[in-house]
Amino acid sequence: MHLTEKLYDLFLLEKQIRGMQSRLDSATRRCSAQQAKHDQLLRQQEEMTDQLKHGRAKANELESIAAEVEQKIAHQRELMNNVKSNREYSSLLIEINTYKLDKENAEQEALEQMSAVDLMDQELVEVTDKAQAQKKLVAAGQSEIEACKSEVGEQLDRLISERSTAEKDLSANALSTFKKLADIHDGDAMATVTEENRRTMEYGCGGCYLSIPVERVSTLMSSSDEIVICPNCNRMLFMDQDLKAAIVK
Ligand SMILES: [Zn+2]
Repeated sequence: MHLTEKLYDLFLLEKQIRGMQSRLDSATRRCSAQQAKHDQLLRQQEEMTDQLKHGRAKANELESIAAEVEQKIAHQRELMNNVKSNREYSSLLIEINTYKLDKENAEQEALEQMSAVDLMDQELVEVTDKAQAQKKLVAAGQSEIEACKSEVGEQLDRLISERSTAEKDLSANALSTFKKLADIHDGDAMATVTEENRRTMEYGCGGCYLSIPVERVSTLMSSSDEIVICPNCNRMLFMDQDLKAAIVK
């Protein structure tokens, strides 16, 4: 087999392999993105649970402060029942009024804290719902990867082994040129020659659609083992057997 034909066979295998791998890669990337979102929601959930715990503790503390002050007021009232003088009575009354103010303040703060806690509670429920929905997306992404693997897995293994057989049939030089061009052109290392006008001998590159100098077409027509490159896009050129036969006729 002619070198260009061997390279073209390798090119076809390479394209199929890259196509399959890119499907698998994008499924994997999509799943990782969903996983990252899920992880973020879990971290948020954890932080909010912690905040809520502290918020509740603070509210309880304020409520017990109010209750303590209430007890003090009750105690002062009892003392009032046994006062001996007006002075003693007034002084107890002043104390009670101060306590009442303290109690109001503590109750007000406790109330505010409770509504803050309610809000946090609501937000936590929302984040938890989001995290659960996100978990389903991660699971869907994982099954997509599995489906993709089971679909392409065997075929991909077979193509990879066919590729390594095809590679062994090439010189180190031809192979390294092919690999370099395949990487540059994302798998499209080669392009087929297209016929624009046989009479005027105009031929084009199927990769970049620009015209190819006729000398390069002649080299491809000859039995030379020279690799012919498109001067515009640098892809290796390949000429279809049918086109070759048609030109020779
Ligand atoms: Zn080209």
